[in-house]
Amino acid sequence: MIIIKTRADLKACLDKYRKRGAQLGFVPTMGALHQGHQQLLLEARKACDLVVCSIFVNPTQFNDPVDFQRYPVTLDQDLLLVSAANSDLLFLPSTETLYPEGLHQLEQYDLGFLETIFEGSHRPGHFQGVCQVMSRLLNLVQPDQLFMGAKDYQQCMVIDWLLKHEGMQTALIKVDTVREKDGLAMSSRNLRLSEEERSIAPTLYATLQKVAERLASVPAGEALQEGRQDLERAGFRVDYLEIADANSLQPLEEWDGQRPLVLLAAAFLGSVRLIDNLKLRVKARYLDKLL
Ligand code: AMP
Repeated sequence: MIIIKTRADLKACLDKYRKRGAQLGFVPTMGALHQGHQQLLLEARKACDLVVCSIFVNPTQFNDPVDFQRYPVTLDQDLLLVSAANSDLLFLPSTETLYPEGLHQLEQYDLGFLETIFEGSHRPGHFQGVCQVMSRLLNLVQPDQLFMGAKDYQQCMVIDWLLKHEGMQTALIKVDTVREKDGLAMSSRNLRLSEEERSIAPTLYATLQKVAERLASVPAGEALQEGRQDLERAGFRVDYLEIADANSLQPLEEWDGQRPLVLLAAAFLGSVRLIDNLKLRVKARYLDKLL
């Protein structure tokens, strides 16, 4: 596996492969890698000739500076994981490499509705930062396929928007969430949970599953309210637990009764913020009960 730190080296290396017609797969990450990241790398390996992984903790996407300072860094283990997944190239840029003009007055993106809901409204500026870093990385790597996790549901929608906005032909491949045995979605932030918090954390996914079941017998508003209460009783501070159209993230009131729905949740355990989601296939006979 080749490790590259500069723009010039990356360009020289990728040009060489591109000339040979290699299909290029890209897995951008912020490090502290786990089996979720590994799954993205393995999917890329299956589909592409050249697999590029990047590790960069992007300062511009942290709306909370403490979250940035505490973001786990485990580079030695990360190198082992990326190389064990048979990746070809690991890009490790510095902040100066990706943001040579500094971190102020960066470009702003008109994400519209996507920035007014869920992660957009609870983490002001977060998706601007995601677009700022992903635009840079995508323009440097110019992958044929980009592999991202469905755990970050809204982020995938933002990246879909960004690829169109930048006029890129890159295909976005959304990879299913990899979970611990007890259902907790793997996340770098799980490393920051105390033992007690870690024992409570699986309740987030369990609650999504319970709400999904309850939707068959009670109106959506009631099922969601029960779910929020369950989370709070377990010790979470809930940012949101909502149901939305899986394609547009429009609220249920706008739903046509046909398109798939998704449950989305974000909640704090102590200072650690966890997110998760669950796609639903609600049968038309439940329509009356849902609304
Ligand atoms: P991060 O390092 O948290 O920025 O994540 C890098 C990529 O890995 C993103 O596309 C995430 O959606 C994805 N990812 C994170 N956790 C998981 C997981 N548990 N399963 C699958 N993909 C994940």
